[in-house]
Amino acid sequence: MRYLILSDVHGNLEALQAVLHHVRRKHFDQIVFLGDAVGYGASPNQVLSWLRSLGSDTLIVRGNHDRVCAGLDSGEYFNRYARQASMWTNEHLVPKNMEFLRSFPEGPRPLSEHAAFCHGSAVDEDTYIFSAYDAQMAFEAISHQVVFFGHTHVPSMFVLHNEAGQLSLKVRLLSGRRVVVDLDPASRYLINPGSVGQPRDRDPRAAYAIYDDEPRRLYVYRVNYRVASARRRIIQAGLPPVLGDRLLYGA
Ligand code: ZN
Repeated sequence: MRYLILSDVHGNLEALQAVLHHVRRKHFDQIVFLGDAVGYGASPNQVLSWLRSLGSDTLIVRGNHDRVCAGLDSGEYFNRYARQASMWTNEHLVPKNMEFLRSFPEGPRPLSEHAAFCHGSAVDEDTYIFSAYDAQMAFEAISHQVVFFGHTHVPSMFVLHNEAGQLSLKVRLLSGRRVVVDLDPASRYLINPGSVGQPRDRDPRAAYAIYDDEPRRLYVYRVNYRVASARRRIIQAGLPPVLGDRLLYGA
């Protein structure tokens, strides 16, 4: 099976379209979405309508922004800009998309016998995996060999290796236009494909991954998209301009 893994689109239609154009000749059997379809960007309805059009086969988990934009949580702990964007999104969603967003299940969810996926971490959908400690907690919370996660918007990988009972934990940033990693059967992995719609690793290009489970091989790609147009539409929509500006820097 080959999985197309998308995360953190955040209402950025320009970035989503560029990714879909980039994958048009690549083979994949299943789309997996790691949450945060909306919040920040100016096209929440278009992104949700696309996800909805894929039908019930798509594997989805809810992100923290999906939960707040759907009105399932007040988001009082969000920063000012995230809160403004979630209120704007909540007001602009058409009923069909609102209903769909509210139906997103909470992760983690299994992908196959050896793989699973979640938004933040298997600990909790709001938990960030940045440090080795965060990764250790996330590994302990689930038994799958490979777990895909989003939420940090940083394409990265934590590898837990067991060498004759001696555990080691390594982190690797998956930066660059195309990264290919062959997974070692003796290791466990937490893998973030990066964010489609709001990268935060100082590379403004949209990020996504393809995972082939036979052999277990990961591809992470970066794709240029019309950042200026996504930024302009954020500003025209009356969303905080800083949400458009940060797209220019991938920050
Ligand atoms: Zn996010």
